[in-house]
Amino acid sequence: MSGAADVISSFLNAKQFMLIRAFIFVSAQILCGACGWLWQGWPGAIAGVAAASLALLLADALRARRFIHWLQEPDPATSPALRGAWGEAAYRVTRALRAEREGARDSARRLDDFLAAIQASPDGVILLDAQARIEWSNDAANQHFGLDPHRDRLQHIGNLVREPAFADYLAGRGQAREVTLIGRQNTPARPVRLSVQLHPYGAGQRLMLSRDITVLAQADAMRRDFVANVSHELRTPLTVLAGFVETLQSLPLAEPERARYLDLMAAHSARMRALIDGLLTLSRLEGSPPPDDDEQVDLGALMAQCEAEARGLSALLYPPEDRPQRLRFAAPPDFALAGSADELRSAIANLIHNAVRYTPAGGAIDVAWQRLPDGGARLSVTDTGCGIAPEHLPRIGERFYRIDRARARESGGTGLGLAIAKHVAQRHDGELQVSSTLGQGSCFALAFAARRVRG
Ligand code: ADP
Repeated sequence: MSGAADVISSFLNAKQFMLIRAFIFVSAQILCGACGWLWQGWPGAIAGVAAASLALLLADALRARRFIHWLQEPDPATSPALRGAWGEAAYRVTRALRAEREGARDSARRLDDFLAAIQASPDGVILLDAQARIEWSNDAANQHFGLDPHRDRLQHIGNLVREPAFADYLAGRGQAREVTLIGRQNTPARPVRLSVQLHPYGAGQRLMLSRDITVLAQADAMRRDFVANVSHELRTPLTVLAGFVETLQSLPLAEPERARYLDLMAAHSARMRALIDGLLTLSRLEGSPPPDDDEQVDLGALMAQCEAEARGLSALLYPPEDRPQRLRFAAPPDFALAGSADELRSAIANLIHNAVRYTPAGGAIDVAWQRLPDGGARLSVTDTGCGIAPEHLPRIGERFYRIDRARARESGGTGLGLAIAKHVAQRHDGELQVSSTLGQGSCFALAFAARRVRG
């Protein structure tokens, strides 16, 4: 439709249109009638009026036919170019169609935006109809429940998520506001937990939300284990201490026996203090930002201190007259490490003390630094001690994880040494590496990235 017609139609209303139509009709009849009268008198006039009426009716019928034909499949792009009232009708229909199509496009665009936003959610979203059948689900939900968006569309959710707890929740049995389910990708090595909620909306439909809470559940389990472990570790020395105090209070003991009891009490309180010190060190390591790399740690001095301590410990455990251990410390490294001297000393000392404690009399312990091909550095502590069975290796470095609790406790262990060493390594852009063969010995190493090595 032309711009002129647009302008005209905005001025004229339906009544004015009809007046113009009538005016054109009557004018054509008068004109043709006058021409006929001039030509043949009254018969000519009647013939002229009839001819004009017929011609106008025919033209109108043809326009109406074109318009109705177009209306059967109206498309703004093929809108017929008609004059007069039919043109106006076609123009208005075209304009309404365009507005409707624009509106539909707008709605579709907005729907796409909504779906893309829901798709981007890390949480699972499923729209259920009033019969609890799946209408739509996002990728996260498909992954959580192993759904195929095409195959499982309009399937009852209860047929696909079959845990009894979910069936009860779906049926509205009980007061639960959410349920925790086992995820589809759950394996014994990697347990997956999902938190699922249902929210009603619309006419009986429900929005089903699922969230992967594996990490939260693990953190919760770790916290529970941790509290249980700490309580357990503290309870043993406390019980022993309480027993000794009671004995000392109630029995008149001879002086040597009394002194022996007091020594044992001192040993147990030292163990408790070591445990608390270890816990405080761990919480400090976890709660503070990694050490910045302005401080350069002199590894020569640090290793000399560790060597002196290790020789002292070894001599205490295995006196020189009783098949002493052989401790070999390689030449001090000619490079420095950027980080915290205190943290590094505690990590390295832990590895060396463990090697001394878990290697029998006559065994050998080798401590050496080496540069790595990628510019990093690695400290290895190799012993010929009891070694570790392969099934324990993945858990080495977890707090309180000990292979032989009684033995570790006897040798003064708290079960926190390797956890501290692992943390310190990570805070210095490094890692704790463990390799071991049961009955033959172990190698514990701290490997640091090149950006921490100076010189
Ligand atoms: P602990 O204070 O009990 O030694 P750690 O965290 O230092 O605690 O070590 C955890 C466990 O790892 C020990 O209980 C021991 O079973 C094992 N372990 C550590 N170092 C060695 C080693 N050099 N040889 C054999 N086992 C070791």
